[in-house]
Amino acid sequence: MRDAVRALVQMTTQRLLLLRARQEARFLQRVQDSLVLASTARKEPRSPQQLLEAQANTWMELFRADGIALWINGNVCSAGKTLEVGVIDQWVKRLARTHGYSGPWCTRQLAENPLTRSLAMGDRCGALAMALPFSQQQNGWMLLFRPEQSETRYWAIRPLDSSTALLTAPPSAARRKAATARRSEAWQRVERLAAVDLGEDLTLAISSYEISQLNDHLERERKALASANQRLEQLAHFDPLTQVWNRYRIEQAIDAELVAAQRYGAQFGVLLFDVDHFKAINDTYGHALGDDVLVTLAHQVEASLRGCDHLGRWGGEEFVVLARHADCAALAGLAERLRVLITTLHVEGLDTSLTVSVGVAAWQPEDSCKTLVARADQAMYRAKHAGRNRVEVAEGGKPDATCTAKPLDVTAPRHLGCLCPAGWATGASGLGDAPLLF
Ligand code: GH3
Ligand code: MG
Ligand code: MG
Repeated sequence: MRDAVRALVQMTTQRLLLLRARQEARFLQRVQDSLVLASTARKEPRSPQQLLEAQANTWMELFRADGIALWINGNVCSAGKTLEVGVIDQWVKRLARTHGYSGPWCTRQLAENPLTRSLAMGDRCGALAMALPFSQQQNGWMLLFRPEQSETRYWAIRPLDSSTALLTAPPSAARRKAATARRSEAWQRVERLAAVDLGEDLTLAISSYEISQLNDHLERERKALASANQRLEQLAHFDPLTQVWNRYRIEQAIDAELVAAQRYGAQFGVLLFDVDHFKAINDTYGHALGDDVLVTLAHQVEASLRGCDHLGRWGGEEFVVLARHADCAALAGLAERLRVLITTLHVEGLDTSLTVSVGVAAWQPEDSCKTLVARADQAMYRAKHAGRNRVEVAEGGKPDATCTAKPLDVTAPRHLGCLCPAGWATGASGLGDAPLLF
């Protein structure tokens, strides 16, 4: 009979072990099924709060918990019944200090556990904490909570008192209740294993989310920086009123052209023009209309230039044109064309025609930006003194056959005065060494 009983017990034990193994495998599979996070995290990263909203109920059911909280770098999000944020903060600090980030920490008696008994755990009885180590600087914790579950034990035999090694009487009903109060269900080995899987998956999902947030942030910063740079560039290079190049930018362009001219000998020059009697326009029509005049003038002149030429506002009502690949004659022609164009400008509210005095200077090998513009400035002042609304070409320009050989058109450029240095106008004009005046 004893052999038969032993065989029966062994069979039953094996059967029970098999049942438990199957149950555990089913449980682990269900936990795995709930871990779709890692695969979806890359495509659509979700915040810890969104993860909880989507999965908290499933996880609470699987782990027989009634609350779950995620502590991520001091931020807490939770579902179900958990603890106050301040208590969770203190608890995870202690966990990090004493338990570290390896494996799950669990208890079924929070009120008795040395780590938690001094904290205000309320009616929470069981808890499992799993570290989520994102990086060396950042970490998090997943916390699962279980409610109290009172157990009633029925003793089939008298239990052995371990201290006295004597059989004692079964505890009274009152003692039994006291022994099982403030306890939750125990955390099974398979549940602790599943918590490790869940923790790893959550770490990955939350890391993906944080990386995507950082990328978004970087992208926003990059765009803000690009637009700030653009604004800076606009401020640094453009005149705020007329939106043409400012003095700094046109000086840069002249400097660059000087370098190219010195190296390759390409001809170029500058035109400096100043609006005649502009103060009177301001005084008569108001400063706002004066501004309109400057804007219209700048836009029309810029629109009429070749792509390789540039207009810049030199200051006040003075503008500079940098004309590339242009010899003295071409510069003078361009200046005259612009002078005529400006007389035809229409500005709303202005019932008088606009005129400018233009000074032209062609590049010379010893020129700097300063000397080149200074010569154009002197020519411009000569134009002013000669009666305004006219073009003057600076003295000391490079002798140029085209400039001097150009036939004098007595009909058109009434206002074009070109004072060329002695020696320029030899040959074609037949005027010997005398300065040639148009
Ligand atoms: P001139 O023919 O000799 O050049 O006479 P002018 O009146 O044009 O010269 P003046 O230098 O006496 O006057 C220039 C005026 O341009 C004075 C200044 O108030 C005005 N001005 C300078 N910048 C601006 C601006 O941005 N807007 C307006 N509306 N006026 C400006
Ligand atoms: Mg003026
Ligand atoms: Mg002026």
